[in-house]
Amino acid sequence: MEASFQKLALSDSLTRVVTELGYTTPTPIQAAAIPALLDGQDLVGQSKTGSGKTAAFGLPILQRIEVERRVVQALILCPTRELVTQVAREVRKLGRGHGGLSVIELVGGQPARPQREALGRGVHIAVGTPGRLLDHIRRKALDLSALKTVVLDEADRMLDMGFGEEVGNILRVLPEQRQTVLFSATFPATIEEITKSYQRDPVRVTIEDPVEEFSDIRQLELVADRRDKLQRLCWALSNFPHESALVFCNFKATVAELTGTLREAGLSVDRLDGDLDQFHRDQVLARFRNQSVRILIATDVAGRGLDVKGLDLVINYELPSQPEIYVHRIGRTGRAGSQGVAISLTSGTGDARLLAAEQVTGQKIETIVMDEDRPQGQGALLRSLAREPRMETILISGGRKDKVRPGDVLGALTGEAGGLRGSDVGKIEVHERIVYVAVARKYASEAVGRLNRGRIKSKKFRATLVGR
Ligand code: ADP
Ligand code: MG
Repeated sequence: MEASFQKLALSDSLTRVVTELGYTTPTPIQAAAIPALLDGQDLVGQSKTGSGKTAAFGLPILQRIEVERRVVQALILCPTRELVTQVAREVRKLGRGHGGLSVIELVGGQPARPQREALGRGVHIAVGTPGRLLDHIRRKALDLSALKTVVLDEADRMLDMGFGEEVGNILRVLPEQRQTVLFSATFPATIEEITKSYQRDPVRVTIEDPVEEFSDIRQLELVADRRDKLQRLCWALSNFPHESALVFCNFKATVAELTGTLREAGLSVDRLDGDLDQFHRDQVLARFRNQSVRILIATDVAGRGLDVKGLDLVINYELPSQPEIYVHRIGRTGRAGSQGVAISLTSGTGDARLLAAEQVTGQKIETIVMDEDRPQGQGALLRSLAREPRMETILISGGRKDKVRPGDVLGALTGEAGGLRGSDVGKIEVHERIVYVAVARKYASEAVGRLNRGRIKSKKFRATLVGR
């Protein structure tokens, strides 16, 4: 069920304000923190910038403010003047239903006297930087005896800026019976110490940010009629440059059919589905990882433990029924620094599975259309995609058990004995009893011959080409 502000036990007036502000749903940190804070619990929270932390602590504070008592009931510590201003502004906005509410900003770099005078007139919420707050406390201008809640916002930054001592000194003068709330992006030992010394059994809330996780994946939807599906697939493959592409289907019959068609047309393609035994699955994957196969067509069953990453392109020939599977599929693409592309073929009727995918990834999925001005027929597309892979895989009949290491294989293939240059040798995967090594396709047969004539670690092993 989707979270809503109505379900968070906020007062009617606060619920009305957030609605007026256009906050339709609480952010994850708000949904998690607000109930605990309304309940009076201490809390340690972590979530990224812009995730709405101010309202997460601001709304519960406002709910418990007694406006008729003009005494400081909540104190919010921020590392910088700018943040103080931002937080105070957001709290005032959220508190606009509280007639007569007074929120004061207490920051350095400004004369202290007007601040003292304002404090003398009585305020409800004080927001400030640690140094200036401590000044006011020491001069007895800031009375915190009625305080209910203290918030350390961006606590790690406050410590980084050298405010550790001030923060400690402030926390020590606060009433014992109070709520202590701490937000921090990181949790070094110094933060844990504050938590231990000044909080009571705090609730811990950490929000992993889905947007961050999927930010290096461009998600696209490509609309296709049932009978254009193959052509759309080919169009996607030819218009999104890739070294390797993974195509997911929901059924192994589709995998078999697609693999057959593409292979017949001369594409470098292989299949991975539940019909293959473990040995052949490993082999197909090894060949895909080392670029002996450019396109892999797979079902989810086979894809479960699929150990490939950082692909340029993942295509959902069919959308999976569960969003978790979608996430699992597209997670094969993208890596820090280079964006991967995930394309889903859909019938274009606002597929619920696509909406679910948008929700779990927190991203809008962009719809792309084929360039109708340049019609590309299936035949032409297939011909343009027919290409041999760069590498070919050699299986060697010895592995870790025989103390074979990647360097030994590289040595046997290069130099005087092997005749290949290092750049002609690709990925070397040493398994328990075998090795898969990729070599440039044009030297593959020759390399097999040499390996069979020569030795590795002064032992003879059998070498064969696989996947031909
Ligand atoms: P953080 O402290 O986590 O960096 P902020 O509290 O500064 O984030 O909030 C970032 C922005 O999001 C602000 O402009 C705020 O008004 C807005 N915001 C907060 N909560 C919501 C919500 N539930 N829906 C929409 N916008 C929100
Ligand atoms: Mg903030």
